[in-house]
Amino acid sequence: MTETGPESAPRTPAPTPLTPLAEDWERGLAIVAHPDDLEFGAAAAIARWTAQGKQITYVMVTSGEAGIDGLAPDRCREVREAEQVASARVVGVDEVEFLGLPDGVLEYGVPLRRTLAEVVRRHRPEIVVTGNFRDTWGGRNLNQADHIAVGRAVVDAVRDAGNRWVFAEQLTDGLEPWGGVREVWASGSPEAEHGVDTTATFAAGVASLEAHRAYIDGLGWADFDPAEFLEGGSRQAGQRLGTTYGAAFEVYPMGWGE
Ligand SMILES: [Zn+2]
Repeated sequence: MTETGPESAPRTPAPTPLTPLAEDWERGLAIVAHPDDLEFGAAAAIARWTAQGKQITYVMVTSGEAGIDGLAPDRCREVREAEQVASARVVGVDEVEFLGLPDGVLEYGVPLRRTLAEVVRRHRPEIVVTGNFRDTWGGRNLNQADHIAVGRAVVDAVRDAGNRWVFAEQLTDGLEPWGGVREVWASGSPEAEHGVDTTATFAAGVASLEAHRAYIDGLGWADFDPAEFLEGGSRQAGQRLGTTYGAAFEVYPMGWGE
């Protein structure tokens, strides 16, 4: 026999705590499908890490040229690349590389892995940040095809980069295999179990998203407010970290023998 009353009323379970991400690294590479992908959740974390003196480079697989309905791709590419460069600068990232693959129709496969392995070999990062590449954002919100293709190719390319016999034709002119990536971190994953305190850099993250003005206007979301939007997820992650704001990531360990 179960008692009824306030003591036995159903309670919402406390959210699972997030484990703090490692911060004992110096070189990071952020590889995502589109300009704006990092700004919808990861930028405040990037700002924290660059403020710690870490060196982070952004790599955009496409230039997001199919992202604004009212703007033809040739013109859109210029606008979005400029917005991304400005957005990166706000969070302490001075180098943004655009790989120029076609927006909206990326395919997961060996060609994409080859392209990304070359990037990893050139930059020799310890940590690679990418976007959520699971099928959904949680619930029924389906992820976008380019995001899924890029994230999957990133984890594979990180392994490929360390194998001298894979894409061996790249190993000329001093380019060497690079097996030094410890982990890949996927921002915004519904399976995130790690996080980082972004309380001090939350405002920089907002400013970084605001730098995508033409894109945000082009979305046609009435009254979209970058600060309000980012506050939702950041507060949730913060609650799981015991901080005001936070950013959550899913961690994929990449070291050999782990
Ligand atoms: Zn995107």
